[in-house]
Amino acid sequence: MDTSTTLPTMEYRRLGKSGVQVSALSLGSWLTFGSQIGDDVAEELMRTSYEAGINFFDNAEAYAHGRSETVMGNLLAKFNWDRTTYLVSSKVYWGGDKPNQLGLSRKHVIEACHAALKRLQVEYLDFYFCHRPDKHTPIEETVWAMNTLVQQGKVLYWGMSEWSAQQITEAYSIARQYNLIPPTMEQPQYHLFHRERVEQEYKRLYSTIGLGTTIWSPLASGVLTGKYSSGAQADTRLARKGLEWLKNNLLTEENIKKTELLKPLADELGATLPQLAIAWCLKNPDVSTVILGASKVAQLKENIASLNILPKLTSEVIQRIEDIVQNKPAEPEY
Ligand code: NDP
Repeated sequence: MDTSTTLPTMEYRRLGKSGVQVSALSLGSWLTFGSQIGDDVAEELMRTSYEAGINFFDNAEAYAHGRSETVMGNLLAKFNWDRTTYLVSSKVYWGGDKPNQLGLSRKHVIEACHAALKRLQVEYLDFYFCHRPDKHTPIEETVWAMNTLVQQGKVLYWGMSEWSAQQITEAYSIARQYNLIPPTMEQPQYHLFHRERVEQEYKRLYSTIGLGTTIWSPLASGVLTGKYSSGAQADTRLARKGLEWLKNNLLTEENIKKTELLKPLADELGATLPQLAIAWCLKNPDVSTVILGASKVAQLKENIASLNILPKLTSEVIQRIEDIVQNKPAEPEY
């Protein structure tokens, strides 16, 4: 069997300590839906995902100023899949430029949810994330707003994205104090070049509050595919106008070097570089789901087949990866 192309059997994981099961791989829409790709490609990406057993589709009010949700909503309506067979998310924070279109006030959290439900054409969001912490709104106000949406049946599970462990703990404690529904999950960045938060900062939260994780950018926006070895290529994310900040952040000599060193190991395992990088994320038991991004159906198929590589990541292989990346965070002290 050619493990690098054969579509695998999907694995499902609990989202932290909650009862809901999410596919180990999921599909995201940042920069692609409603922007970089046509709606026909978005349709093929969603269909291919669903047929491969992916049950979670990630979105946000900020993505393409709402167009990403509109495209996904039109497709969900067209597919008409059984609503019990998929999970769809939105995230609130960046709704617009006006004062009450930004952040995590009760007003914006509730209004953004209503707008996302409309665009996505669903009656409830399975997952609703606070896209970033909001230093201008008391966490207590946001926790109450999320609880209201859960009580109204408009949101099933709520969480945050890129909050510190301390902010998550505060939200959790407030929810416990007032008998409200606490947050279930975080959406952090996690890949071979970016590890501290998931492996160190949040470590204690997995066992204490049962935090789930829906991790983003498993390929460091494509750097871990190896396609940037000779600089930013045309028709790729890091060559796009307006994304210079992302390119400056990720396309470093060090990251390119490490990616080149990982290539022979991937070859040895019969995997491609993206498959090795995604399988490495999946290997972490504290990761509930790895959100994939893809601008082409062939990329998505290649990435889904990373599940085939997972059994090949023995402790010896993991150690060889550690020797290459040399960035393993220290064990938390407590
Ligand atoms: P990745 O790091 O995996 O980057 C995906 C991009 O890499 C693709 O769009 C494509 O870009 C390129 N790529 C993917 N697979 C391959 C392949 N096999 N070969 C060559 N190139 C490939 O993930 P994303 O950064 O897209 O993040 C995934 C999802 O996570 C997002 O869609 C979003 O839902 C979520 N997210 C959440 C954030 C948050 O703040 N909560 C922030 C960012 C993302 P191209 O072809 O254009 O080069």
